[in-house]
Amino acid sequence: MVKLDKKAAGQDNRTATQLVRGGLRRSQFKETSEAIFMNSGFVYDSAEEAAGRFKGENEGYIYSRYANPTISVFEDRMRLLEGAEAAMATASGMAAVNSALMSFVKAGDHVVAPKALFGSCLYIIEEVLPRFGVEVTLVNGTDLDQWKTALSKPTSAVFLETPSNPTLEIVDIAAVSELAHKVGARVIVDNVFATAIYQKPLELGADVVVYSATKHIDGQGRCLGGIVLGSEEFVEDYLFPYAKHTGPALSPFNAWNLVKGLETLELRVEKQTDNAEKIAEFLSQSSKVKRVIHPGRDDHPQAELAKKQMRRGSTLVSFELAGSQEETFAFLNKLSLVDISNNLGDAKSLITHPTTTTHSSVSDDLKAELGITNSLVRLSVGLENVDDLIADLGEALE
Ligand SMILES: *Cc1c(COP(=O)(O)O)cnc(C)c1O
Repeated sequence: MVKLDKKAAGQDNRTATQLVRGGLRRSQFKETSEAIFMNSGFVYDSAEEAAGRFKGENEGYIYSRYANPTISVFEDRMRLLEGAEAAMATASGMAAVNSALMSFVKAGDHVVAPKALFGSCLYIIEEVLPRFGVEVTLVNGTDLDQWKTALSKPTSAVFLETPSNPTLEIVDIAAVSELAHKVGARVIVDNVFATAIYQKPLELGADVVVYSATKHIDGQGRCLGGIVLGSEEFVEDYLFPYAKHTGPALSPFNAWNLVKGLETLELRVEKQTDNAEKIAEFLSQSSKVKRVIHPGRDDHPQAELAKKQMRRGSTLVSFELAGSQEETFAFLNKLSLVDISNNLGDAKSLITHPTTTTHSSVSDDLKAELGITNSLVRLSVGLENVDDLIADLGEALE
């Protein structure tokens, strides 16, 4: 059995230490770096041991759909970072979102969410849940009065994302959690844009946190992954039984990528945010740019709330060009360093035109309401030299 080495795993240490050592398990070979346990099953010394394992009488792994040593390292490291009691990794961010909701929401329940959500999350909430008899209320996430009205009757779940994609709106996690708890709702926060480095939803009152680990956690464009974190009660009574039997399991190889990604997460996110702040400032000075949105700036419409619940802004900058969609496309096409791609949180700077890509399935009315215009672009700032990035953006704006 590959046992958790509590001393080497730095259980009681600070974030930087936990990101490098959290959950570390070493095999009998005493490897320095985390091993990849690329196996589906495990063997037992006897039939009795196998029987005992299935009855939960002896500890150990059974099958990689349930648990696997490399995946356990990733889950423990994330659990320590997030300050959560328990966690379960999944094959993608969407598998995490889907499992978090499907594991406990049932027919007749009421679910509340803001309209400004990642497209696939909106699909689950707007299209899938109602098919199973779940009533859904969508609100403007920045308007507490709308939350109050929606949460005036028994509700089983609130699902929210903050800052939101792509307009970087902020939802007040503490205020919404308080309203939600009064009517019995479990609050699930999609923390992809903020990352655990800047925002700790559980400390703010939320009950469950979900991630697309594909984004900042890998941060190097190598694999998909996801994770759900929450209380022991939630993970053991709802999430684990559901996931174990429906199979959104993460590959051990991808878990290993994510474990190695976590080692540099804080460094990358801080540096990418430094770059993002400088780029936002540069863009705000350009006559070709109508509006710059970055949660770390004083001109963000909810700057105060952003400061209250996030340690820093974001690695993302959204901005609206002073021009048509055609001119916006010309700007994207002229970029030579920044790549056109809908991924985010990557070491490489990536830019996307949300209205024709990530949000192309959203209705025109809702796009207008959310401020997703034809000239809005979302820039995920990477680790390149910031002066090179500014030169590239500057030339393309000309
Ligand atoms: C990318 C993303 C997801 C989905 O994650 P995948 O790993 O692509 O499945 C969910 N929520 C947000 C906010 C995202 O950015």
